[in-house]
Amino acid sequence: MISNSSVAKAVKSHSETAKNKYIYAFEDGNKNMKDLLGGKGANLAEMTNIGIPVPSGFTITTEVCDLFLREKNYPDGFAEQLQEQLAVLEKKMGKKFGDKKNPLLVSVRSGAAASMPGMMDTILNLGLNDETVEGLIEKNDNPRFAYDCYRRFVQMFGDVVMGVSHDLFEEALDKMKEENNVKADTYLSEENLKNLVDEYKKIVENQTSKKFPESPLEQLKLAIEAVFKSWGNDRAKTYRAINGIIGLKGTAVNVQSMVFGNMGDDCGTGVAFTRDPATGEKIFYGEFLMNAQGEDVVAGIRTPMPILELEKTNKSIYDELIKIKDVLENHYKDMQDIEFTIEQGKLFLLQTRDGKRTAKAAINIACDMVDEGLITEEEAILKIDAKSISQLLHPQIKKSAERNVIAKGLPASPGAACGKIVFTADDAMQLATEKGAKVILVRKETSPEDIHGMNSAQGILTSRGGMTSHAAVVCRGMGKCCIAGCSDIIVNASAKKLIIGDLVLTEEDVITLDGTTGEIILGEMEMQEPQLTGNFKRVMEFSDKIRKLKVRTNADTPKDCKVAIEFGAEGIGLCRTEHMFFEEDRIHLVRQMIIAKDEESRSKPLKELQKFQKKDFVGIFKEMDGRPVLIRLLDPPLHEFLPTQESQIKELADDFNVSIEDIKDVIAKLHEINPMLGRRGCRLGITIPELYAMQVRAVSDAAIEVVNKGQEVNVEIEIPLVGEVKEFTYMKKIVQDVINEYGDKVNFNYKIGTMIEVPRACLTADELAKEADFFSFGTNDLTQLTYGYSRDDSGSFIPKYLELGILDKDPAASIDKLGVGKLMQICVELGRRTKKDLDIGICGEHGGDPSSIEFCHKIGLDYVSCSPYRVPIAKLAAAQAVVRGK
Ligand code: PEP
Ligand code: MG
Repeated sequence: MISNSSVAKAVKSHSETAKNKYIYAFEDGNKNMKDLLGGKGANLAEMTNIGIPVPSGFTITTEVCDLFLREKNYPDGFAEQLQEQLAVLEKKMGKKFGDKKNPLLVSVRSGAAASMPGMMDTILNLGLNDETVEGLIEKNDNPRFAYDCYRRFVQMFGDVVMGVSHDLFEEALDKMKEENNVKADTYLSEENLKNLVDEYKKIVENQTSKKFPESPLEQLKLAIEAVFKSWGNDRAKTYRAINGIIGLKGTAVNVQSMVFGNMGDDCGTGVAFTRDPATGEKIFYGEFLMNAQGEDVVAGIRTPMPILELEKTNKSIYDELIKIKDVLENHYKDMQDIEFTIEQGKLFLLQTRDGKRTAKAAINIACDMVDEGLITEEEAILKIDAKSISQLLHPQIKKSAERNVIAKGLPASPGAACGKIVFTADDAMQLATEKGAKVILVRKETSPEDIHGMNSAQGILTSRGGMTSHAAVVCRGMGKCCIAGCSDIIVNASAKKLIIGDLVLTEEDVITLDGTTGEIILGEMEMQEPQLTGNFKRVMEFSDKIRKLKVRTNADTPKDCKVAIEFGAEGIGLCRTEHMFFEEDRIHLVRQMIIAKDEESRSKPLKELQKFQKKDFVGIFKEMDGRPVLIRLLDPPLHEFLPTQESQIKELADDFNVSIEDIKDVIAKLHEINPMLGRRGCRLGITIPELYAMQVRAVSDAAIEVVNKGQEVNVEIEIPLVGEVKEFTYMKKIVQDVINEYGDKVNFNYKIGTMIEVPRACLTADELAKEADFFSFGTNDLTQLTYGYSRDDSGSFIPKYLELGILDKDPAASIDKLGVGKLMQICVELGRRTKKDLDIGICGEHGGDPSSIEFCHKIGLDYVSCSPYRVPIAKLAAAQAVVRGK
């Protein structure tokens, strides 16, 4: 082999004069060039440059892919650069591409900036034809090996480049095995394999009406083209959509001289992780197979051996591999996933990349690496995918369990649950409480009326609604698994049937929901419980030291508060008081208040309600023990509290001693064409002021009582859905007047502020800030009102939008930085122009989403607020935002 560095210099001197550099020899790249060289190419370059044995090669940039896919042609000068790089490679290897005596063979592999395992195409043994195969035979004195390489090449090339079905080649292979009475291809003779090459070529010609290309250069050009095109294949597109991979130019192509693991018993191939990717334990983990090529391992023809066995098979290679894995881990400061090949007793590394791992492993590896002095705490927190830690906070389906997935919806609330199907909230409660049954509540959509059933069910499935629909929001708050907007299913509640295509399920059937993937699985799956290890706490401590954003929780009950505090919440960022109205002992009073014809008859149920609300607030203030508690005054339209079914309407009429018509009259009056834009939020408070006054009295009574018993109370009273400053000043006066009624008794701290949910509020934030003590972004409504997408109906079109790439992400789950985010930025800027230290937080569902949290950090919010089970995710994401921003 000719010295790498002298050849590299020759390439450099030419390429420096070249106008556009389309191809980089491995010596010319490094690990920071992922955007241009793809992950695989950048790491092959890095390994080459730190002295790891890597088969020589070069990388065609992602820019060429982008140009090729747009122009349907290679850019000017590309062909010349390819010839040059090939010539350099030939010199390095001491072989010649297309040579009859001593042929150079190459692999052609894809590799984008983001890892997309198995999603794009690879071709091995390229450069073989009827002449070069003779050279390969002569060089290695091994005809069987040479024909095996050749038939594999024709098969891969035929499939990937020429589009011939893989199955046709497999059928021919099976036929050959059958005719020769052998089970595995390893038993086929040289002659058999030679015939198979001819057979494969005939298949290609029959299927494509084209001859199999004999020229190695033509093979190479076609293979590069095929890899570029594989960037746009369906499985690659789907993978990118699922994993949120956006904004990349395309894939790079790595052309690398072949090394063979299948030349005999001193050859082999393997894959390994430098630590256990499931647990994080510091053990070398992986498998290998002697006398094999990588695809044999994948195809499962032979069973690979555990990597530790390699020590017995070939001690010196094993020792070298151990040294290399340590060098790589120390160099990359992360757990590595490596691929290697042994060719006639010589070890080569074919790939290294940061290894994919479970959340548990990520946490353990990060902490261990801090202890080993390999990384700092700041680096450690970046090694954990914040979203993934929800895996540790909820039960999960056992990894090994096989899934019979019958439908897929939006992964609205993580965790897993299984149980018998029920179709009404009452049935859910009855079966769960009376019979102790585990049930899954299946509804078209849920409403606040279903809360008791949701509470009793293990998980919720809805056919409608998006990521901020009622079901999604409530389930996340409860830490309960939920799949929403599953348009594959038809829910026929009256017939008690769940229909998925031809499958009809009834109350007798059991299903399992995976709220992390959105999969609905037939039958009961085995579960594993969450494990919060010591290292989980340590990661939280690292995050607490680093982050600037405070993390509060959205909580409506003392129980929620307790869970959230255990997870480290620093206050309540949203207490939705309406949830308290739905409890069984209150709903009656709420309905009485709604059907009351005048203020006088409304005052009695309001007084009763006040007692209940006071009790709720006492519980919350006690639990929060002086931490800030933001209480939002009533928000939803009143019709949500009224019954919809005939039987319930009759019951209500009987209870209140009025006619059914009277009740129907009230319902008709409250009916709104578009309730999300109707009388809700402060519009409710302005039209029925005694309702908000009652709530403020309950807050004051509770706060005074708790302070008198020796605890501190810091309450923030919030007016929802304000778009006009006068709405706020009108309501603020009512709130202030009620508090003033208490005179000297007011012993608690309070602020009066507003939610920012209407675009106009953002645009007039300077005016609002003159009056409001604090702002809190309600980004569920702000997103709904900015895009004009109904949060309860978007499930019917968002999946299509995502599939078509019209949207990169569901804006209900992750902040649309360009639109909604811009409004938020304007709001923060205007608000703080009026009041420099204005306290601003966020309490929409985005408050628990890592990328939205990073955005909130960047625009200078004081805190994020999310459901209790997302508090740890938010803390970690807030700390990551600080480190990434440095
Ligand atoms: C919001 O709109 O973001 C919000 C938190 O309020 P709700 O979801 O209750 O409308
Ligand atoms: Mg709202």
